[in-house]
Amino acid sequence: MDRIGRFVYQPQPVRLPALVQGREAVRHRVAIVGGGPVGLGLALALARWGIASVVIESDTTVCEGSRAICISRRSLQILEQLGALPRFLQTGLGWQGGRSFYRDRQILHFTMPHDAAQKLPPMINLQQYYIEEFLVEAVRAQSALIDLRWGTELVGLDPQADGVALALRCSGVDHGLQADWVIACDGGQSLVRRSLGLKLEGTAFEGKYVIADIELASDYPTERRAWFDPPTNPGYTVLMHKQPDDIWRIDYQIPDDADLDAALRPERVEAFIRGHLAWIGEGHRPWRLVWTSAYRAGAMTLADYRHGRVLFAGNAAHAMPIFGVRGLNSGWDDAFNLGWKLALVLRGEAAEPLLDTYSEERLHGFHVNAASAIKSTEFMAPPSRGFVLMREAALSLAVEHPRIGALANPRQTHVIDYPTSSLNLPSDVFDAGPPPGSVFAESPLDGPQGAAHLSDALGPAFVALVFAPQGRLDPALDETLRALEASHPNWRTVVIARQGRPAGGDTRTTLLDRTGEAYVRYGFAHSESDSGVYLLRPDGHVAGRWRSAVATRLREGLRRVCFSH
Ligand SMILES: Cc1cc2nc3c(=O)[nH]c(=O)nc-3n(C[C@H](O)[C@H](O)[C@H](O)COP(=O)(O)OP(=O)(O)OC[C@H]3O[C@@H](n4cnc5c(N)ncnc54)[C@H](O)[C@@H]3O)c2cc1C
Repeated sequence: MDRIGRFVYQPQPVRLPALVQGREAVRHRVAIVGGGPVGLGLALALARWGIASVVIESDTTVCEGSRAICISRRSLQILEQLGALPRFLQTGLGWQGGRSFYRDRQILHFTMPHDAAQKLPPMINLQQYYIEEFLVEAVRAQSALIDLRWGTELVGLDPQADGVALALRCSGVDHGLQADWVIACDGGQSLVRRSLGLKLEGTAFEGKYVIADIELASDYPTERRAWFDPPTNPGYTVLMHKQPDDIWRIDYQIPDDADLDAALRPERVEAFIRGHLAWIGEGHRPWRLVWTSAYRAGAMTLADYRHGRVLFAGNAAHAMPIFGVRGLNSGWDDAFNLGWKLALVLRGEAAEPLLDTYSEERLHGFHVNAASAIKSTEFMAPPSRGFVLMREAALSLAVEHPRIGALANPRQTHVIDYPTSSLNLPSDVFDAGPPPGSVFAESPLDGPQGAAHLSDALGPAFVALVFAPQGRLDPALDETLRALEASHPNWRTVVIARQGRPAGGDTRTTLLDRTGEAYVRYGFAHSESDSGVYLLRPDGHVAGRWRSAVATRLREGLRRVCFSH
């Protein structure tokens, strides 16, 4: 395959490194196995902290076919921090909702949460080959820190007390590479996982889906359409999504006992699509099939994402049903969570137990994601006769009772908070605002360069969000913050004032909340002088929040989060 729609596959240069007695002379601090979207995201997440990595990728091009297409707002926030956002927004198609139909009747029109405070759309659609291409571009811009090795396959690995020995094959030449840390991002069939004798555990579902991408010039808007029991697929479901370049994704369920090879024959797929397009009134337009694949649902995970010096992320760590689009979105959450933690450990600014919180938090993320995805899967591809009957009853009632149509809501991926994380700091009680473990709340503010958002002030740093209405800080707090700004290379103070002028600086920024909206969002709307501090972790999650004795609690909080004494 060398082209899909307007996307042209470019073979990447394969390079064998200089070897000494069959081994690379240089020992690497971090080796990332797998240059898929999660591996590339991790390399970028480490590079923003100045940490170098080598990425081992067996293919010589970005992925074949479109695979993941729906990217959530949270992932876009992460991509912005990784320095890769503009291309995603230029090419991706933003969307906000969709429709579900039972036979030929619409039973649900859903919208994803969105409000005027947001900088980014709730979701964009973008083919995975573009996703990987844009990440590769961002990686190239970091070539001093990221060594991306195309056409290099991991064939074996030997974990050791202080690192890992990797056996690689490139252009037919076997050679070794030593790394202090290895991150397995080698996808669903992970060789790293198998080499360590580890298995994914969880639920595998029976439902089988054929996935086809077609080129079709249609002006139907970008929204997700789902048909239950349509005449084109009686008893089963069909999904349709728009992608850039007039590419459309059509997913349709086939019987559990269907012969998959036969179902994937182009003439069978084309006949199905022809019938479905005719039924939805798009049959008069020219179209062509550009990619097919098959899919089977499963929600499975490793029991632990850290095994000594080997860490797992993305599909190597877990498998997620596609309904609700949590696969890649959760993989980037892994990468962003692990990136800052490993970077701080490698920079000597945090102790190793911080890495165990990666597994703790992201396993929690898996279980929250899996619970939603399983509910969606049970509705989209009912696993038993009982679920079929329940779905039938819900769908037929939904035609007359719109409330019941909500059951056909696809439960798209949502932001994952860590309410029980061991990194959450004892905090004061607030009646609004993101509690410890939650992701920061976006807010429009005025910055030194004009209109801004809170997220513009975030970066590879702990951030003290200081709500000081007059812009003046309590002297003890000011002194503590100045000491932290001076002693910690990765500390930022962001003062949110209601009066005065926005101001910029290397370690301290003042943003203006003219409308008071940010004060309300963060729970400081009790009085004109209501004030306090939120401590944000480098991944934008809240570590703690306080109204009193803030200076001491900030210092202690930072020590606790970094496991330093
Ligand atoms: C049809 C379909 C639709 C999907 N839709 C969505 C969606 O809309 N939203 C969403 O969030 N997710 C979606 N997903 C899931 C998403 O595609 C995956 O979760 C995502 O690709 C995982 O990324 P990864 O980097 O962990 O693994 P992969 O993308 O599988 O990348 C692994 C990489 O490792 C390389 N590799 C493997 N073994 C070796 C080795 N031994 N040596 C060297 N390199 C190796 C591979 O070549 C590959 O490049 C979809 C998946 C499918 C199949």
